[in-house]
Amino acid sequence: MTPSPRPLSVRQLNRLRVIEAIYREPATSRADITRRTGLARQTVSTIIEELERASLVEERCATDAAPARNTGRPPILLSLVPGAAFAVGLDFGHQHIRVAVCDLSGQPVVDDWSPAEVDHAPTESLDLARELVSHALTSAGIDRDRLLGVGMGLAAPINKSTGELEADGILPGWHGIRPAAEMEARLGIPVELANDADVGALGEKVFGAGSAVEDLVYVRLSAGIGAGMILAGRPYHGALGVAGEIGHVLADPRGPICRCGNRGCLETIASPVAVAALLERSTGRPVTIQTLLALVAAEDRGARRAVADAGEAVGKVVSALVNIVNPQLVLVGGELAAAGDVLLDPIRAAIERHSVAPAARSVRVTAGSLGPRAEVLGAAALILAQAPHMLAERVLR
Ligand SMILES: [Zn+2]
Repeated sequence: MTPSPRPLSVRQLNRLRVIEAIYREPATSRADITRRTGLARQTVSTIIEELERASLVEERCATDAAPARNTGRPPILLSLVPGAAFAVGLDFGHQHIRVAVCDLSGQPVVDDWSPAEVDHAPTESLDLARELVSHALTSAGIDRDRLLGVGMGLAAPINKSTGELEADGILPGWHGIRPAAEMEARLGIPVELANDADVGALGEKVFGAGSAVEDLVYVRLSAGIGAGMILAGRPYHGALGVAGEIGHVLADPRGPICRCGNRGCLETIASPVAVAALLERSTGRPVTIQTLLALVAAEDRGARRAVADAGEAVGKVVSALVNIVNPQLVLVGGELAAAGDVLLDPIRAAIERHSVAPAARSVRVTAGSLGPRAEVLGAAALILAQAPHMLAERVLR
């Protein structure tokens, strides 16, 4: 007989509260779970038994902790079994696809990537991503039924209500394609799509330099320029989902026409591609982003000047954002972040000069700590954030 939905939903809700308590604070005692959930002690014990039978929760004795007052024995600490479920992250850069598979503790068990012509070859890129995911799961020995879902970062504005790209000229090859649905059809697993800078911000917040910070801006300087924001501890995407498009803020009214159709956007003068193109003009030979970084490291005067000027332009736009959202931390990611202080010092100087003094004083500007893995780990974190809910629904329906 099918149980009535109401008692079942209460059970699921209680189970969710217990899973959430253990997920947010691993190695926690039954007494702490009881206190934090406000549930009766017996209810907590019953749910934990269920979760242990489902191999979702494990206990260990805290030999180094103070003995419990009532028993005199070391307390038993509960954690989720890290390998009970996994989340997949996919990062579609302009010229690469990266995959990471994270366990429930957030630990990446696989991290792999492949070069790809993402901008101009969407179908081939989606097929390649499917192969990367399959290979990652096989190499780690993970069954598909232990996957919670796939988070997917893509370098374009994403409409959060339709899941489609608001790209127009920004990613023309992807026009009319619904990337999440395409990926879902290839993998047979739920896929959540997000903007690359947004997942980069989330990656740094969950796993990186932003973990103790409630208000941060992550600036991605890759082939394009974008910003992801965490405000009051939560990702901020705006009404449609396209907040943070700083690459398309006016930086030079007489600058070149941008791929978005406007003139003089920040991207046209400060993206790594624009900076490399400047050097191509002066050196007369092709300059890739890798060549550009090598020239900066070799103290090439022209390359350092070009990167510093780009930093100043980025800093002017970010200084306005600093005034508007008053972040505690600005993290710089994307390929150009590897230029280090040659890039970061002019960003800091521009904020110092153009932001209102208290906002400038309270913000720190540094490179992200995850490097090229920020986006893919953030994409996995999109799914891990929903893990307690998904597990509560899945275990003992
Ligand atoms: Zn533009």
